[in-house]
Amino acid sequence: MTHFTDLNLHKQVLKAVTAEGYETPTPIQAQAIPYLLDRRDLLGIAQTGTGKTAAFALPTLDHLVQAGQNRRPKSTKVLVLAPTRELAGQIAESFQTYSKYMDCVTQTVFGGVKINRQIRALEKGCHVLVATPGRLLDLVNQGAVTLGDVEILILDEADQMLDMGFIHDLRKIIARVPDQRQTLLFSATMPKDISDLAQKYLSDPVRVSVAPESTTAERVTQGVIHVANNDKLQILGKLLDDPDVDRALVFTRTKHGADKVVRKLMAKKYPAQAIHGNKSQSQRLKALAAFKSGDCRILVATDIAARGIDIDGISHVINFEMPNVPEQYVHRIGRTARAGRDGISISLVAEDELYYLRDIEKTTRVEVDVLPAPEGCEELVLPTPDPNLRVRKPKGPARRSGRPQRGSRNGPGASGEQVSKAKQRSRKRPGKNQRRRDREKAKA
Ligand code: AMP
Repeated sequence: MTHFTDLNLHKQVLKAVTAEGYETPTPIQAQAIPYLLDRRDLLGIAQTGTGKTAAFALPTLDHLVQAGQNRRPKSTKVLVLAPTRELAGQIAESFQTYSKYMDCVTQTVFGGVKINRQIRALEKGCHVLVATPGRLLDLVNQGAVTLGDVEILILDEADQMLDMGFIHDLRKIIARVPDQRQTLLFSATMPKDISDLAQKYLSDPVRVSVAPESTTAERVTQGVIHVANNDKLQILGKLLDDPDVDRALVFTRTKHGADKVVRKLMAKKYPAQAIHGNKSQSQRLKALAAFKSGDCRILVATDIAARGIDIDGISHVINFEMPNVPEQYVHRIGRTARAGRDGISISLVAEDELYYLRDIEKTTRVEVDVLPAPEGCEELVLPTPDPNLRVRKPKGPARRSGRPQRGSRNGPGASGEQVSKAKQRSRKRPGKNQRRRDREKAKA
């Protein structure tokens, strides 16, 4: 087994790793760090929870120590791009932790907060800049920072950045970074647009891939309860009453859904907060801090907001609504199995979500156990559907991300929003013959 001491990291970096209590590198660290120290480009397929932040931060800091730690005003040597403010904040925190025995200034910039403080913070320059693409581009356009000194460019959660529509910003940013650089691209999934991106911006990259999507799912004890949409809240309350639920992350598919669940839970005196894209930065940070400290043990989140959240001790992930993409499910339940620990996930599946459950089981190659009804809810739980029953994909365009479509409040196939077949038929314009018959009837 590899130890951190075998990896040839600079002693100042190693000291911080030891201070963190890390002994053995995680698989992605063991695979990636030697190549990154050789300054190779890298394409990493890994999710949060695998230790990927240290996999790119440690060799990056090693380079900074070796290369001398001078910095020029309004510039940075390392640029890390991340899709969300939460993830950017977490990456910056990791860089600060791992660089505490060296002279390294890490700055973070993201949208949703006033820009002036960020402009001032960048004036003296930094070694590591962690940014979300939109705000960074604003700052570059305003002349608050230049990217001409970037030696290492890291794109984290690239699939999420593309999902969020950042591709044009990414292109503009990369065009301002010198061609002579080391580039690292991390993504949880490898769709074609990511391999195109890698082809365009990476030079002869090493490819490392860890924890194929199915293995993360296997570490989590997964269960499902079949229940009608209208009864989900009651079941959720019962599940949260279980004293084993220390800290629960509850997923809905939409921001509106998250707010609604929080409202209903609060009305029943459950301490719950929501985190999603419509919340201000300070509301999000406050909710996260309360959840981290244990003051609020229920966090209701949408997929985008929760992605990349690194909180230890989430005992349960509850899918109040099923995601319509299997990868999203894997990301969700992965929030509870951090750094090799186990966790429990419970999915509340309504009839119109059965297709998604089947799709998830096929992708992860794990059959999710049907759980017994929570006490007092026996009447509410639906019978287990016959596994041979053919379920059709709910109507709606195929989408990679779980985000709702523009113009539809809850997105395709959203629970409670689905229009039944009979209704759809009845809404259809009647045929020519039918219209003639109707006219004749009306005349008569
Ligand atoms: P990440 O995938 O980067 O979000 O990391 C997930 C969690 O694993 C973080 O809380 C890290 O502090 C922790 N971690 C990273 N590397 C190691 C390691 N080698 N040993 C123990 N914990 C680690």
